[in-house]
Amino acid sequence: MNQPQSISHQAAGAREDAQVSRLLTWLSLAAIIFLVGIGLKAWYSGHTLHAWVLWSCSVLVGLNMVYFALSGNGARQKGGLIVVVGLLFAYLIASGGESNTGPLWFYVFPPLLFFLTSLKAGTVVLLICYLVAALVFQFPDLPFVTAEYSSDFKIRFFATLTFESIFCFVLEAGRLRARNELLELVVTHEHAARTDELTGLSNRRDMQHRLASEFSRYQRAGHHFSIVLIDLDLFKSINDEYGHDAGDAVLRQFSALLRDIVRQTDVAARWGGEEFLLLLPDTSLLQALTLAERLRAEVAQAPFRFKSHCLPVTISAGVCSIAKAASIDELLKQADLNLYNAKDAGRNRIAPRVRSRGEDHPMGSPA
Ligand code: GH3
Ligand code: MG
Ligand code: MG
Repeated sequence: MNQPQSISHQAAGAREDAQVSRLLTWLSLAAIIFLVGIGLKAWYSGHTLHAWVLWSCSVLVGLNMVYFALSGNGARQKGGLIVVVGLLFAYLIASGGESNTGPLWFYVFPPLLFFLTSLKAGTVVLLICYLVAALVFQFPDLPFVTAEYSSDFKIRFFATLTFESIFCFVLEAGRLRARNELLELVVTHEHAARTDELTGLSNRRDMQHRLASEFSRYQRAGHHFSIVLIDLDLFKSINDEYGHDAGDAVLRQFSALLRDIVRQTDVAARWGGEEFLLLLPDTSLLQALTLAERLRAEVAQAPFRFKSHCLPVTISAGVCSIAKAASIDELLKQADLNLYNAKDAGRNRIAPRVRSRGEDHPMGSPA
């Protein structure tokens, strides 16, 4: 039987990815403007190498944007930006940037990293950055290191950056936990809103949606479908004789049997009380009658047990195909009328019963 999988997680994931990509595009634009501007300032201050490095980075950020615009690959867009920003920060800390202020840009990294990547990946990249910073601070004689920092600066730089990183980690972990709890809540509510609590089948509301979409499919593409409206016979007397719990147990057992009998593409719903509705896509009246008759026979001979009692359970059903109705309302009305006829004819039977070679037979007529 076909129960729709919740799409909340996927939908939320896709929405978040789109949001991140939009934000990255704006961040990249801002970064290009900044890099070009600060590069110009460096150029006019005579720091030509610094200017060229900043402009090169702005070109790389621009290329990353163009690549994303052409490929739509959000993961590469993030990865590309992290690599460019990482290289730029490594340069800034090694060169000191303007007046040894280069390392200040490192503070931008932790929140950006945790936002763009997972907690694990963010922590790994941050540790690499720490390592680069430690190398630069520890070995000022390395060929690419031109900046010199005081001991006080180095200690405070590491201390404040560590504090910021831990704070970002904790905040991001909290945000992710809250987000996942919210998504789980949405999935639970979605499921509850379309499921019957007692039997686990679709409820009436869910079935109404499915009927409407199956009817649209029929109107669009001419796919026929049928429905079977089932009512447990003399159910009130089961309640009266064996108690309400016994009645509930019968409803559950019958639902399990229903689930076993229908196909993956069929939908079984508790229509209300002791009434059930089957929606059978791509099924003619004759095929629906065959299935209903098989179900009736199985229920009649299945042992329904509650405690030590063996309960007498039979069903009656009204079947109708969309070929015999102009709307869902008419289809349901016709199935209800057929169910009434089945009850009227003595219960434990399926209607319409069609005369075939002088005999009443539930499967005597095609759709
Ligand atoms: P018929 O063959 O004409 O359908 O007779 P019936 O006794 O099945 O029909 P009726 O409509 O008189 O009674 C239906 C009973 O189903 C009455 C109601 O208490 C019982 N019922 C409805 N929902 C539940 C439920 O969730 N649990 C239990 N145990 N009983 C229920
Ligand atoms: Mg009833
Ligand atoms: Mg009944």
